[in-house]
Amino acid sequence: MPGGTDQTLRPFLWRAAKLYPDREIVSRTHQGIERYTYSEYDDRTAQLANALEEYGIEEGDRVGTFCWNHHRHFETYFSVPSMGAQLHTINPLLPDEHIQYIVDNADDQLLFVDQSLAPKLAEAAADAPEFEGVEFVVMGDSGSDALDATPYEAFVEGHSTAYEWPELDEKQPAGMCYTSGTTGNPKGVEYTQQMLWSHTVATLTPHGIPMDDDDVVMPVVPMFHVNAWGMPFTATAAGAKHVYPGPSPDPEDIAGLIEDEGVTITAGVPTVWLGLMDYAEDNDLDLSALDTVIVGGSAAPESMIRWFDDRGVELLHAWGMTEMSPIGSVSQLKYTLEDADYETQLEHRTKQGILMPGLEMKVIDDDGKEVAWDGEDFGELWVRGPWVTKEYFERPEANAEDFEEGWLKTGDIVTIDDEGYIKIVDRAKDVIKSGGEWISSVELENAIMAHDGVGEAAVVGVPHEKWQERPVAFVVPAAGADTDTLREEIMDLLAADYPKWWLPDAIEYIDEIPKTATGKFSKKDIREEYSDQSLVEGTVPEEAAPDDD
Ligand code: ADP
Repeated sequence: MPGGTDQTLRPFLWRAAKLYPDREIVSRTHQGIERYTYSEYDDRTAQLANALEEYGIEEGDRVGTFCWNHHRHFETYFSVPSMGAQLHTINPLLPDEHIQYIVDNADDQLLFVDQSLAPKLAEAAADAPEFEGVEFVVMGDSGSDALDATPYEAFVEGHSTAYEWPELDEKQPAGMCYTSGTTGNPKGVEYTQQMLWSHTVATLTPHGIPMDDDDVVMPVVPMFHVNAWGMPFTATAAGAKHVYPGPSPDPEDIAGLIEDEGVTITAGVPTVWLGLMDYAEDNDLDLSALDTVIVGGSAAPESMIRWFDDRGVELLHAWGMTEMSPIGSVSQLKYTLEDADYETQLEHRTKQGILMPGLEMKVIDDDGKEVAWDGEDFGELWVRGPWVTKEYFERPEANAEDFEEGWLKTGDIVTIDDEGYIKIVDRAKDVIKSGGEWISSVELENAIMAHDGVGEAAVVGVPHEKWQERPVAFVVPAAGADTDTLREEIMDLLAADYPKWWLPDAIEYIDEIPKTATGKFSKKDIREEYSDQSLVEGTVPEEAAPDDD
């Protein structure tokens, strides 16, 4: 039975299991390729719901996941929200303190964790009061050496494949994800049933990312990252075949799955596709099945769009935010551009796209006035709509800053052209985005300035060929500091508290940090005056990759 008459997720799965019982869900796991059908998937979501209920999970409780993309993680996607509980995906790439804060803030009592991520979670949980009373289920059929955990298969085994799904109110929180801010702790965004429902339905329209029952959909974007951009829900609503690339997939794994499973639609951050492009230089790559690759999270370079065009694959550039469930715009070509020449089309496809139907936007300049859609005037992009959150979880000070009269102030500085295409020209927020994951410049600055030999420090993101941006620290040494050893000491200090991929690629000494009129560090001026790409060229060793745990 579906979950009632409101806008909720459960009917998407009910329909898929009825209409497409034999359509496959395929997963790359440590055990190799595993596959089953929608029908079996439907049964297992019921078994999981029964197991969770027996464990004590009730409507409104949060259930955490600390996992890569695979079928078991996908089982939590429909099971947890459809029982009225809340699926809380946690990003395993975050520093330990953020993970501790998030588990405490969300009040997680039960966490599903991948075998390969258990050591990382154990490290974050060790002696951390935030983890008191938290229990673990490890994804697979065996336990973990790192954590005291129940194997997932034992957790669900023997439970009934029937479950009395409740009739839910569409305002019921269904999911939760945290986003990093410029300052302070990560901010929680709750997704109601209705937000996820409306995002799913809007995504299926021609100006979204249309999918059909003959599509084979592979989200490479992690399922801990804003519900893998909603794709597990959208693909189910479409009745498409799902392919999950498993733990830390490399270009060879991605290429193999595209070829072997006939993937037609895939999605990920630019770094993933740059990796695939590199791989294609020395290896045969058969992309004949692939129709569409969705690229977002950071700007897709024009050269990437051309590269896929040359191979008969359409690159759809998309923009979104955790606060927007997450998709806001997609660079679909309007009918007015259909007959335009290739370069004109490309110019529009390189932008962040046109707004999805159902949303509204405006661009506000420094004087609080709306700017014209002329492709030149710029300001901050404000958005609102059914799948845009109206507040952060328990963060009134952040709410006051980021929301106004029902609008979300995105922090992205944009122009909009006369066709309505959005282009991000700068960021009001100074967080650094490396390989699709955030690094807080403010946190690194504070840590660096804790060193006696440092007067002032500013950290900015410098464009990087592979990772889009990498952090570089600009340091004003304190009087009398030993500049021969300072760099190394700062790096040691940071390495003690932060993951390797957060460490700056370079530390540059300068005489003074440029300031704004109000005395704040002017990141814009630092970027303009001091930082150029040569600072980070070839600087990232493989182990500094964000997808390396
Ligand atoms: P996600 O990375 O999943 O889109 P986040 O909430 O982590 O979501 O990041 C949102 C921010 O990422 C946006 O406000 C914007 O600064 C940046 N961003 C997202 N998509 C793009 C894009 N296509 N081009 C440039 N920046 C983007």
